[in-house]
Amino acid sequence: MIRSAGLVVSDEELERMDVADFGLGNLYREGAQIVSLFDTPKLAARIIVLFPNQAEPEHWHISSRETEGKEETLRIIQGKLYLYLPGGNTAVSTIPAGKESWYTSRNEIILNSCETITIQPGVKHWFCAGSEGVVFYTMSTTASDTTDIFSDPEIVRKTIISD
Ligand code: ZN
Repeated sequence: MIRSAGLVVSDEELERMDVADFGLGNLYREGAQIVSLFDTPKLAARIIVLFPNQAEPEHWHISSRETEGKEETLRIIQGKLYLYLPGGNTAVSTIPAGKESWYTSRNEIILNSCETITIQPGVKHWFCAGSEGVVFYTMSTTASDTTDIFSDPEIVRKTIISD
């Protein structure tokens, strides 16, 4: 999907792709595929791929004493992204079945190719691909994925693979 969206990436970058199911074991419905392009102490750039109707669960980026929470800018390359921010009361058909309690942001913003939006630190958000899937960039200040807070208490950021 990344290459058919016209992006040039190396095989090595693709091999490093983080396939995150957030410990929920339902990757095609709740998950994300993330290629990190670079991470410096101040900036990070990633490509995120979502399969058709795949949702990245609601989360937000907290601040700590040392660092302010991540400011995150999304830019859509190919496909359609349904982004949800706090407020609103859109009847959201993209919420995974039975997960309504953990997807509380209902202010729906639909983003297409070349559209860009910035999410401020601490603001809850989640997103879901349209029926064709989506490829987009996230450009952000310091990425510290392990401190992200998710609404769904079942989520663990690193999947544990058991025998
Ligand atoms: Zn985020």
